[in-house]
Formats: sequence, structure tokens, C-alpha cells
Amino acid sequence: MMRPDDSSLSSGELLKVETIATNLLHRSDAWGAVPLPLGDVLAAAKLKLAPYSVFDPRSIKAYIAVKGTQVAKTIKSAIGKIFGILDASEEIIHIDDSLTPGKQLFLTLHETGHFELPHQRKLFRFFEDSEQELEPSIADQFEREANNFARFVMFNGDAFKQRAADMPLAFASIKKLQSQFKTSMYASIREYARTHHQVCFVAALEPTEVRSALGICAPVRRVEVSPSYERMFGRPQTTLITPGHALWPLIPLGGRRVTRPTTFILTDLNGDQHEFIGEALDTTFNILLFACPKKAFRTS
Ligand SMILES: [Zn+2]
Repeated sequence: MMRPDDSSLSSGELLKVETIATNLLHRSDAWGAVPLPLGDVLAAAKLKLAPYSVFDPRSIKAYIAVKGTQVAKTIKSAIGKIFGILDASEEIIHIDDSLTPGKQLFLTLHETGHFELPHQRKLFRFFEDSEQELEPSIADQFEREANNFARFVMFNGDAFKQRAADMPLAFASIKKLQSQFKTSMYASIREYARTHHQVCFVAALEPTEVRSALGICAPVRRVEVSPSYERMFGRPQTTLITPGHALWPLIPLGGRRVTRPTTFILTDLNGDQHEFIGEALDTTFNILLFACPKKAFRTS
């Protein structure tokens, strides 16, 4: 199943979120700073990050319940394991330290978004986020706002886009940017495709599985395309990559972690064929693909 959209807002809503995020970056003296000085950002927001050892959603909830009042109001009861909590009355964020550093950064800024967006803080004093809120299957306005806030602060406005534009169009550039920004690979490839000025796309696939009748296949988790790609080729609708699909040769199989640059053919909206080149990385959680027209591809 393709994951539902977890971040789209109207342009007016997005502008509001980005204005508040920009304001925080300036207050933190962090505008343009890469990697993001997270400590300064939290200090400017007047938020504390709880020591990791304290992370225990059940005891935090019990504590909140004892305190009574409307503090205990949660936006929704989180389903599944809770990864992050914002306790606005105590001005503290709790993050699960079993997450990767990139995910912890995103989640910390997502909780900061719940705190900084005045209409959210006015309504709720306590937010709990499980995997469902970070990638909500039921798209929730507040969660989409917090996701966009986190994305804007994490990539420092258009700092990621600007740096990407100065680098070769290749997966190697995404890896370099990811280590500079200290973001997750997943967030980095998405940001790369959706902000790049050239034709390219990325995809996150679930690990390959064997289905009866179908055989081996890789379900598509998410695809992001650059604006110029979408104009030429439209938005890919494939939900399953099976042998025979144009992207199949890119999937690392047989214990391989990466697929070296491999060419394949894509047909544009006018029916014209284009030679593309793609690379892939198996992170064990996902298979991440990057592809662009062969003539634009540069090895760094
Ligand atoms: Zn949230």
C-alpha cells in the first residue's frame, strides 16, 4: 500500500507554518546553520529535552493524569508504540532514544512544532506521537502542520535545496547532504527530489517479499518527484514493483546493499522514451531508489 500523504497543506497554511518556523530559526540565531544547532533552537523555544533515561510513556501519562485538569487532554490516543511526547505545561519533550539520530531530530522538531504553533498550543497541552502520527494513515491537520514545521527547520528553509543545486545530480550527493544535515536518509531523499530543479525522482520501497500468484515483489512505500519530472512524466502510480517493471533491475537482490548506476527506459506523457539511470540502497528498513535522465547524471 502506498503511504497516504503526510504533509500536504494549502499554500496559505504552509506559509503560516513556515513563517513561524523561520521566526524560530532567527530567534535561535540558527538561520542557514548546517547542521542545525538543535540546542540553540530548543533554548529559543524555551523547551527542554528530557534525559533519555526518563523516556517511559506510561509513567509520563500517569504523572499527567495525577496532575489532573485539562493538561491530560491528548489530541488523540496514540495507537501503537509512542516515540515522542510534548508536555507543554512543563515545557519538556520526551523522545525515544531507540530511534536513529535522524528520526530523533525529526521527532524533536515535530514536537517543537506542536509547541510553537500558537493555535495548537492553545488547544492542547499534551501531545503524544506514535508511528501513526509521524506518517498518519488518517491525515490529521495538526500532524501535517507539525511535519512541515519539522521539515522546514531541519532543512533550514531552502538551505538543502541550495546546496543540492551546487552538487552533481546523483545519489552520492544525497548521501553527502544527509551527513551534512544529520537528517535521516529517508527524509533526505524526499527533500532532494521534491526541491530539485532538475528532472529526478526517488522512491522508498518496502523490503522484497514473495506473494502467492505474484512471486517476488517490492511494495512501493512512497515516491517523490521533482516538479520538472512531474511536468514531463506525471506522478508515478505504481504500488508494486515486480520483475518486468522498468525499476526492477534497480532492486538490490541476493544480499547486495547497493545497486550501481543502472540504465532503464521511461516513457513521458507524450509517449516519448527517455534513457534514465538509477541507483539504489538497501537500508534494511527500506530500499531507497534515486533516478534521473542519463544525460543529466554525473558521477561525483
Ligand atoms: Zn504530532
